[in-house]
Amino acid sequence: MEHKLMELPFDKDALEPILSAETLEYHHGKHHQGYVNNLNALIKGTEFEEMHLENIILESEGGIFNNAAQVFNHDFYFNGISGEETKPSHHLLELIKRDFGSLEAFKETFLDTAAKLFGSGWVWLSLNDGEVLEIEAHSNAGNPLLRGHTPLMTCDVWEHAYYIDYRNARAAYLEKWWELINWDFVSQNLLKFDEKRTEHITPCNDNSELCEYIDALDRADHSNT
Ligand code: MN
Repeated sequence: MEHKLMELPFDKDALEPILSAETLEYHHGKHHQGYVNNLNALIKGTEFEEMHLENIILESEGGIFNNAAQVFNHDFYFNGISGEETKPSHHLLELIKRDFGSLEAFKETFLDTAAKLFGSGWVWLSLNDGEVLEIEAHSNAGNPLLRGHTPLMTCDVWEHAYYIDYRNARAAYLEKWWELINWDFVSQNLLKFDEKRTEHITPCNDNSELCEYIDALDRADHSNT
């Protein structure tokens, strides 16, 4: 299975002046493309050749892991930013308030964590095993999948993400990147998690015989209690 470079969900100049078209040409066109090319070359003829990206990340190490995770992380990063104004869903905002106190407090902690991450890496918002929101800092190509957590949002703090526009001023990049967050994407990731979690308790709605059978069992079960 050949992995492909995702298309950017916006025009190259749509994020200016926060992120320039030149930054996107390099970040997406050279770096992201490079990870895709490396991954395809490295998995050829190996047990990873036909695997889905997320499984490669969980089962590989070394060069294959690094390139697979960088493809996943960059897909997540570019889907997670937008030139249009968006807002967190009601549910996401509720969880942010529950776990961080307020959106402002969350922003402060997230950006502070990103500013302090030593060297290259990624800062993530995820849902952990206890279904609590967590800010995770990972070096190099790390991500929440490695901890069995559900990723919701990420910020790339590798220098190639900001050096053309901000030079060495990572904190200035972070403050501006915050304005680009595609809250629709973050909210959708939370919604997908909620849907997956409730799948087993929602009624079987298809019109197949099997579903009727399962629903009948379910009704019988409830009538006994
Ligand atoms: Mn990057």
